[in-house]
Amino acid sequence: MEEDKLQEKEFFSWEEFSAFFDAWCERRKVLFFVKNSVPLSKCKWATAPPRPDVVEALKYSSVRLVCKDFRGSSKPEQGGQHKGCCASIVLKMSPKKDRLIVTECQLAHNHALCPIEFAYYFKKGYLMANSCLPVRTTNKISKQFVGGPDVRRLLSYCKSRDHGVLDVLTVLDGLFASDPNAKVKLVFMEDKVIVQTIFFLSSRMMALSRRFPLMLFFDRMVGLNEEFDLYSVLCVDGAGRGREVAYCLTQRETPDLLRFTLASLVQSVPEVKLQVRCITLGVEIANLEAVKELLPNARVQICRSQVLETLFSKAQELGAAEDERIWPLLCRLAAAKSPSAYQQAAQEMKAILPQRFVRYFQRHWQPRSEMWVQFWAFETARNVNACELLKQHQRRLLAALSPSPTVAQCMLDLLAMQVGNEAHELDEGELATHYRAICKPEPAGLIEEELGFARHGRYRFQETAEGYLLHDGLSEFAMDQALTRCSCSIYTSSLLPCRHLFATRLHTGLALFDPGLLHRNQAALLGAC
Ligand SMILES: [Zn+2]
Ligand SMILES: [Zn+2]
Repeated sequence: MEEDKLQEKEFFSWEEFSAFFDAWCERRKVLFFVKNSVPLSKCKWATAPPRPDVVEALKYSSVRLVCKDFRGSSKPEQGGQHKGCCASIVLKMSPKKDRLIVTECQLAHNHALCPIEFAYYFKKGYLMANSCLPVRTTNKISKQFVGGPDVRRLLSYCKSRDHGVLDVLTVLDGLFASDPNAKVKLVFMEDKVIVQTIFFLSSRMMALSRRFPLMLFFDRMVGLNEEFDLYSVLCVDGAGRGREVAYCLTQRETPDLLRFTLASLVQSVPEVKLQVRCITLGVEIANLEAVKELLPNARVQICRSQVLETLFSKAQELGAAEDERIWPLLCRLAAAKSPSAYQQAAQEMKAILPQRFVRYFQRHWQPRSEMWVQFWAFETARNVNACELLKQHQRRLLAALSPSPTVAQCMLDLLAMQVGNEAHELDEGELATHYRAICKPEPAGLIEEELGFARHGRYRFQETAEGYLLHDGLSEFAMDQALTRCSCSIYTSSLLPCRHLFATRLHTGLALFDPGLLHRNQAALLGAC
């Protein structure tokens, strides 16, 4: 009898049971699903609780599986109504709290078993995946933006720490608690409770992309982790620094990340769609045609120094001789300032580089020369060096991220980096020097004093129709959109930039040294009488 074989059968983990039961169902073409279950992580214990590793392995203190037809059916083509099927299996944790035991099994069905129906409904691995979060929930929420309430709902469903999902949800819960308007998109692997991709940006990052949408950058971080990749979108702020406007963390080898990330960014901040004029990509980013569709006014460029490094190492790989002319030639090619200079360098390549390399070049880089050769792919803004900006970003990430982090830890580090960012970049001494160079000593001294108050933990910022509001815990100060005027008494009496203007500029990425801040007080400038 089947019952005899199942009854009292023992399993030392839910995974073991799931694998056994999947195979068992496949052999018999029967469909069971979990009707009730008591997760161990949610049990209260009168006596000593089971060890944490046991909770992790067994997952449930009891599970009742019932036949898919337990409700019966009333489909006329199946010969009218028939009563619900009683086939069921009950699994319970043993009294010793170290294994699961089949304590009841009723395997007789009151209906025929249909292999076609089985093939249609059966999903291998479903029992295992479902033990963390209901798979239908993750399938439903996948690829959508989630908000704080969604995350809290998922957290309340979450029964185990499998695949770090619980940790990721906990980080997201913290993010929404401090920033309810943050945008987060989660992608789960289909029919599994494994996070494939997380796209996220804080409301600060959204404000930055609204303010500085002209040039964007997109690149993958090199050497983060063996399991997942980090992609960032950057903009250039008023001081010429690269600022993160979106992050995408994803399982390695996930295809078409450029499209996914840009689409998610445009959904989060629709204004940027038509405003982006240029996007510079890391050399290994693929499927560039996505840009045309998502950012129709943007030129596509590929980071020149990365192209150069790729060409050089490819030349070695394809058998180029040790020849000290190669690197300077490639540099001349990339930095060509006219089409003829480019043509000439490309011709010279044929003389000193192997034919295989020349063919590789003609196939991969020649057709895209407008995206990386200096003559065509020039810098849009004079003081922005795209390659340097991407390199600096890499260095910042390396400094901010824990070594070999989990996805959840990586998100925490990235969010902390956002908070710490402007504080690091504020150099009061250097700014004061700039102001002293254009101001008389007395106003320069006042400005320096105000700069000292720009970094203040208790400031809260709010965007309004007219500009910005800053709350300092006691009062509220209103500033214009351009952040050159403030309602406080320091500004109104001196017409010099105050701490509120500096703090809000710091917060929004605007330059802190800006001669425009002195337009209304020409008398403060050196050379004025
Ligand atoms: Zn049945
Ligand atoms: Zn002020």
